[in-house]
Amino acid sequence: MASSSPSTGAHSSRDVGHAGYSSNPSPVPYREQPLVYEATGDCWCACKHKGARWISWSNNNPGRRYLKCQRSRVGGCDWFKWFDEPTTPFLRQLLVDLRNTVNKLRRENTRLRGVNADLEQGIEERNNQIHALRNVLRNMAEGGVQNKKGHTGQRTRMLLIIVPLAIFLIISIKLAG
Ligand SMILES: [Zn+2]
Repeated sequence: MASSSPSTGAHSSRDVGHAGYSSNPSPVPYREQPLVYEATGDCWCACKHKGARWISWSNNNPGRRYLKCQRSRVGGCDWFKWFDEPTTPFLRQLLVDLRNTVNKLRRENTRLRGVNADLEQGIEERNNQIHALRNVLRNMAEGGVQNKKGHTGQRTRMLLIIVPLAIFLIISIKLAG
């Protein structure tokens, strides 16, 4: 492991930036918590805490693990150390491409979920309108039965024209909106 040769493994914290979060979030969930690994003599930071082991997802070091002060974001020290050796240029590019693909699909998935939620809301509103119109139709039809014979036929014919027309108009307006 890289920590056995600190002279080649050590980098300044500037090289890795905020790999693992910020602009390049990890494309996969961590299999292990950052402190769940076997401690060795050189995994302790300047303030005597066991270093947290993270995975870099930067362009220069994708998939490469590093150790960092576990309290670095809340007033700890800036101790930093690579845990793995650098990978090959081919695997580096492959991991960056995979990272970008996963994150792009994630963004697209989030967007489509939003679109889907809007569509579902539209369908629910339309169903409510159709239900309300059906109630109106039923009430009018019931009123029509009580009328005299001559008027009944006329009113039914009117309803058969007006109600479908009203439903059609409302759906058209919703679809256009
Ligand atoms: Zn520290």
